[in-house]
Amino acid sequence: MSGPVLVVGAGPVGLTLALALRQQDIAVRLVDLAPQPSDRSKALVIWPRTLELLDLHGCVEPFLKAGIQGHGARIQVGQRLLVALSFSKVQSRFPYALMIPQNRTEAVLAQLLAERGVQVERQLELTDFAASESGVCAELTRADGSKETMQCSYLLGCDGAHSVVRHRLGLAYSGETLESNWVLADVKLDGPAAADQVAVVWNPDGILALFPIVGDRFRIIGDVSGAEAADPSLEQVQSLVQQRLGSGFRAHDPIWLSHFRINERKVDRYSVGRVFLAGDAAHIHSPAGGQGMNTGMQDAFNLAWKLALVIQNKAGMHLLETYSPERSRIGDQVLRNASVLTRVALLRQPLLRRLRNLLFSNLGRSRRLQGRFVQQLCETDLHYRGSALSPVLARSGPGLQPGDRTPDLPCQAPSGETRLYELLRRGCFVLLSVGAPLPSLELSLARDWVVPASAEPRPGYAAGRTYLIRPDAYLCSCTSSADQDDLLALWDQWR
Ligand SMILES: Cc1cc2nc3c(=O)[nH]c(=O)nc-3n(C[C@H](O)[C@H](O)[C@H](O)COP(=O)(O)OP(=O)(O)OC[C@H]3O[C@@H](n4cnc5c(N)ncnc54)[C@H](O)[C@@H]3O)c2cc1C
Repeated sequence: MSGPVLVVGAGPVGLTLALALRQQDIAVRLVDLAPQPSDRSKALVIWPRTLELLDLHGCVEPFLKAGIQGHGARIQVGQRLLVALSFSKVQSRFPYALMIPQNRTEAVLAQLLAERGVQVERQLELTDFAASESGVCAELTRADGSKETMQCSYLLGCDGAHSVVRHRLGLAYSGETLESNWVLADVKLDGPAAADQVAVVWNPDGILALFPIVGDRFRIIGDVSGAEAADPSLEQVQSLVQQRLGSGFRAHDPIWLSHFRINERKVDRYSVGRVFLAGDAAHIHSPAGGQGMNTGMQDAFNLAWKLALVIQNKAGMHLLETYSPERSRIGDQVLRNASVLTRVALLRQPLLRRLRNLLFSNLGRSRRLQGRFVQQLCETDLHYRGSALSPVLARSGPGLQPGDRTPDLPCQAPSGETRLYELLRRGCFVLLSVGAPLPSLELSLARDWVVPASAEPRPGYAAGRTYLIRPDAYLCSCTSSADQDDLLALWDQWR
């Protein structure tokens, strides 16, 4: 069945997915039941890997203009500094956390999408669907109760934690809701708080985390275990700030006072036939580490290039079967890391707290451990090693391994001097020769899915090797320059 792709939900994930598909000229409809965009600042951070993926879709600049750079994070016990993390050494064009409220992120995505001809269709709710081998028939309901039936080629459920798509597929959202209660406040804060640093303070009576938003406006999050679940008053926030940060701070001018509980849940599979889940519809976890929205946006980037190649008849439908295992493994990892961070921060037992503090002050002294923690936060360590799309050829050597993220680098293409990520913008693979001339693709091999390029050796990219790089900047596989045909042949199984 032909017909557009239907994206359900215009949160950050649905918007990203629709945008990435439009980049490849795929026809898309994006519907949302809400009458207007959310004004909530929820996710405040876009991490370097997500910025890189926006860059390779040619749309990172408006985000950089709309946000501010966060250069590091500090973990303290009371006033005592345990760890000061700096993001400046991250090997990326974007060695910082971009601090930008989620409603701004969504507004920028919606604007980029509108420039590519897609408007969010609001007050249009997916109420039912029936999927077959050849397509999906979706029932959309308007605010006045009238219905529309739509035939689409694929249905993408980006409809958040209470996903109708997930329910209709009958997929379990397994996990738990943690006992602790949390308050959240977006306020102006007088006092010596750094405007480019996230600060996390562990006290015996609970945690307080401070995220810069812009100027003297900050997000405050704290656990209030044992308290009744209710939105806090400004006075309650101020007393939490004084208890856990010190008397030199004053919170005022709130724009959002709320409370929440932490869910740790995930589906086992992200797709059934032509129906896919991405973002909170597939996984939800603690905000510790600020990975939820970023992970969802990266689900979207993973799915978009595969769908585009399948719809353009450059790959067979079985390519789509790699989406669920690749993203589900990352989802498990992100959930685990966020869970550990949360439970470690919530420790109450004095002996365990002392042990934790000792471990973290060691982390503060070890550059290697700090580097690993920073990479984890920045999501630059995520990889697809072991995926069916990352075969290890017998001659795989040092440097980047199949499945690894491929950092951007200057390169030479038939069109002239460029960057790897600019080439990937076309939604194609790149065959990159390092320390050797541009690979000359024979006509029979120079198919419409691969662009040749050459580059000088760089960390990870070894001289004398050829790298086949996926459209989302992960290494498919690599070999010696002489064996480039082996690399190209790999793609045949996906056609
Ligand atoms: C307080 C808080 C702080 C957070 N902090 C961070 C952070 O620092 N970093 C981070 O990465 N993440 C953070 N998150 C998580 C982040 O907000 C979510 O992961 C993100 O919003 C998920 O995006 P989504 O597009 O998957 O879902 P949502 O944002 O929930 O969007 C789903 C959309 O689908 C629409 N919809 C639902 N059902 C239907 C239907 N049947 N038909 C049509 N439309 C439908 C909804 O109206 C909604 O617009 C935070 C979350 C909270 C609550």
